[in-house]
Amino acid sequence: MFVRDDIDVASLPQPLTLDSFAGLPPEHQPTVRTYTVRRVDPEARQITVDFVVHGEHGVAGPWAAAAQAGDTLHLMGPSGAYSPDPAADWHLLAGDEAGLPAISAALEALPSNAVGKAFIEVAGPEDEIELVAPDSVDITWIYRGGRADLVGENRAGDHAPLVEAVTTALWLPGQVQAFIHGEAQAVMHNLRPYIRKERGVDAKWASISGYWRRGRTEETFRQWKRELAEAEAGQG
Ligand SMILES: Cc1cc2nc3c(=O)[nH]c(=O)nc-3n(C[C@H](O)[C@H](O)[C@H](O)COP(=O)(O)OP(=O)(O)OC[C@H]3O[C@@H](n4cnc5c(N)ncnc54)[C@H](O)[C@@H]3O)c2cc1C
Repeated sequence: MFVRDDIDVASLPQPLTLDSFAGLPPEHQPTVRTYTVRRVDPEARQITVDFVVHGEHGVAGPWAAAAQAGDTLHLMGPSGAYSPDPAADWHLLAGDEAGLPAISAALEALPSNAVGKAFIEVAGPEDEIELVAPDSVDITWIYRGGRADLVGENRAGDHAPLVEAVTTALWLPGQVQAFIHGEAQAVMHNLRPYIRKERGVDAKWASISGYWRRGRTEETFRQWKRELAEAEAGQG
């Protein structure tokens, strides 16, 4: 949650939530952005959050690019329900840079004998990071050839290289647990129908959602998600 510098946070009802700002005018409301808790160290009382730096647009990305030790962030949460299910025969994980913190944490949470495949789309080889994963989980890095918001439509959304990588990958036998998060057009309009309809994976085995949408801020992306949910509810 990003609060304007001229707001005296200490004077607001604590603990600080969106309700703390009730009664303040719209321009004094905080800006909310959603991030993954990549790592928790209870002893050091530290959490780690990995931000995608995606240029000068937006609030959180530019904040992270310029952040200095001692800068303040206000947190709400956490929420989230995924954890690896030991009953799954194999695990399919996929996403882009925004989904990478969640995929990294999910890979670390898998039991050491887990079998699976992870597909991660990034701009290029310089964006690969060290991952800790069980030996039998194959990790494939996919290069898009540029920043996710800047590449042409032929490398994004319906044409994201991640979509082709996942939909052409060899499907393993047995019950899959899928964990897929990234750019919304690629994930919600391409990978989700592939997993749920073509592969017939039940919702309880699938954590699949868009984390951001090209050309939209988080606020207008929330509207996009509402419209998609309404359209799907209308299809009965
Ligand atoms: C559950 C969940 C967990 C998430 N975890 C993480 C995380 O751990 N790390 C992380 O970096 N993101 C994560 N995201 C995605 C993040 O919330 C969005 O990327 C968010 O829009 C960033 O806010 P912003 O203020 O930087 O940009 P906004 O103000 O929302 O958008 C400004 C512009 O930047 C573009 N943009 C936004 N995100 C990206 C991106 N990733 N790449 C390229 N262009 C972009 C938008 O399309 C828009 O044009 C998560 C999202 C969800 C729903």
